Amino acid sequence: MASAIVWFRRNLRLDDNLALDAALRAHDGVVPVFVLDDHYLTEDFSPPRLRFLARSLEELESDLSAKGSRLLIRKGPAGEALASLARETGADAVYTHSDHEPHGAEILRESQTALSAQGTRLRLLHDLHLVPAGSLLTEAGKPFTVYTPFSRRWREADKADPVPAPPRVATPSAVLAPGFPSIPRSRPRGFRFEGAPANPPGGPREGRRLWDAFRASALSRYAEARDLPGIAGTSRLSPHLRFGTVGVRRLLADARETWKQADAAGRRSIDVFVGELAWREFYASILAAFPRVLTESFRTEFEAFPWVSGDEAEERFAAWSEGRTGYPIVDAGMRQLAHEGWMHNRVRMVVASFLTKHLLVHWRRGEALFRARLADGDPASNNGGWQWSAGCGTDAQPFFRIFNPVLQGERFDPDGAYVKRWVTEIAEWKSAGRDLHAPWRASTPPPGYPAPIVDHAAARAKALAAFAAIRASR
Ligand SMILES: Cc1cc2nc3c(=O)[nH]c(=O)nc-3n(C[C@H](O)[C@H](O)[C@H](O)COP(=O)(O)OP(=O)(O)OC[C@H]3O[C@@H](n4cnc5c(N)ncnc54)[C@H](O)[C@@H]3O)c2cc1C
Repeated sequence: MASAIVWFRRNLRLDDNLALDAALRAHDGVVPVFVLDDHYLTEDFSPPRLRFLARSLEELESDLSAKGSRLLIRKGPAGEALASLARETGADAVYTHSDHEPHGAEILRESQTALSAQGTRLRLLHDLHLVPAGSLLTEAGKPFTVYTPFSRRWREADKADPVPAPPRVATPSAVLAPGFPSIPRSRPRGFRFEGAPANPPGGPREGRRLWDAFRASALSRYAEARDLPGIAGTSRLSPHLRFGTVGVRRLLADARETWKQADAAGRRSIDVFVGELAWREFYASILAAFPRVLTESFRTEFEAFPWVSGDEAEERFAAWSEGRTGYPIVDAGMRQLAHEGWMHNRVRMVVASFLTKHLLVHWRRGEALFRARLADGDPASNNGGWQWSAGCGTDAQPFFRIFNPVLQGERFDPDGAYVKRWVTEIAEWKSAGRDLHAPWRASTPPPGYPAPIVDHAAARAKALAAFAAIRASR
C-alpha cells in the first residue's frame, strides 16, 4: 500500500489529530510535513505567533521522532511543495484539516489543483471544531447569525470523541534518511523567530500543562472568575486552540469527566466554559458563511458610520495603542497586549468598545492591531469580537450600550490588581484610593499618568449622535 503525506497546519499535535489518525489507518506509512509558505513571513503574522509556531514545530518534531518518524519542513507554495513531495515519496494521498478561513480555503483549493493534476488525492478532515464550521443551519436552512439559538443547536449536535496519539508513526525509510530534503527547523531562511520571553510559549506539552492546571483549580469557578482580569481565572488556551497544540475534542471529553465529579456550582461553570468553546465555533461559522465580514461591517449601515479620520484618528489611535488614554483599565489592557501578546477577554471588550465608541476610530484599525500583536490572533474570533464590541456585528452588543471604562474597572478589578500590574504609574501612586479607576478625580493624581483623552459622558453623547445619524439615513 502506498504511503500518505500528513500535512500539519493548525493541528500541531499527535493527540486527537484526525488527519494523522485517518492516514495511519489507511496507509502503511506516513510522511509528516509542515509547509512554510509566504503567509508566515508577512507583517500580519505577529512575532508572538511566530515564536509560538517555532516552539510548537520544535516539539512536534521531537514527538514524531520519539514515535519513529520525523517532521519535514518544505518551502511553499503549498500545492507545489506537496505535489513534489508526493512524487519524491510515491505517496498517493495528502491528509490535512478542512478550513473555514478564506485564506486557508484558498491554499487548499490551490493544493487540490496541483495534487489532482498528478493523481494525488487531498483528504480533508473536520479537525478544528467540535461541530464543522458552517454545518449548522436554522430551520429555514440559513446560517445562524445569533449566538443563543446557534449554541442550542450546537450543544445538541453530535460531537466526535478524541482519538489517542498513535503508539508509532510508521514512515518510509527513505524519508528518515538524514539527506532527505527538509529545511532545518532551527533556521529556515527568512523565518523570523522574534517575539519576547513574556509571550505565551507554544507546544502541546505547555497546552496540556495549562489545561491540567486550569481543570484542577479555576474551571469549577470559571462562571465568576472568568470576568476578573486580576486573577488567573481563564484557561489561556487560546493560542493553543489557534495552532492546534491542544485538540478541542480532548478538551470537551476532559471537561465532561470533570463535570461528572463536580458540585452544582462547578457544573454550571463547566457549562459556561463549554459555551465559550461554542462562541469560538459560532464565529468560525459566521466567517464560513459571510467571508465579507473580514472587509466590511456585518451590518452594512455601519459602512456609512462617521468614523474619525486624518490627524485626529492617528493621534487617538496612537494614544490607545500605546496605553496612554488616561483610563487605567484601557491602558492596562493595551500594555498587557504589547508585553505578553495576550489580553484578558473582559479587557479586550473594554478596549475595543473604547476605541470604537469613545474614540470613534474604525474597528478595522483595532482588529488589525490585535492581529499584529496577539499570539492567539484568529481571523474569525478577532473579527467577531471587534464587530461585537463596535456594535456592527452579527450578534452584537447594541451600539447604544457603551461600556463606561471606570465602572468596568470598579466592577471587574475592584482592588486594582490588574491595573497595578500593568500601569506602573498607578502601581507607584502613593495616594491611590477610591479613585484607582478614575485617577483624575483624586486631589493628587498619579505623577506622569496622562489625563483622560476624552470625557466619558461627552464621548458617549457624540457616539450616540453619530449612531442616530446612520439609523436615520437608512
Ligand atoms: C475584540 C476582541 C478580539 C478577540 N480576538 C480574539 C482572537 O484573535 N483569538 C481568539 O482566540 N480569541 C479572541 N477573542 C475572544 C477571547 O477574548 C479570547 O478567546 C480569550 O480571551 C482567550 O483567553 P482564554 O484562552 O483564557 O479563554 P477561556 O476563557 O479560557 O476560554 C476558552 C476558549 O474559548 C474560546 N473563547 C473564549 N471566549 C471567546 C469569545 N468571546 N469569542 C470566541 N472564542 C472564545 C477561546 O478559544 C478560548 O481559548 C477576542 C475577543 C474580543 C472581544
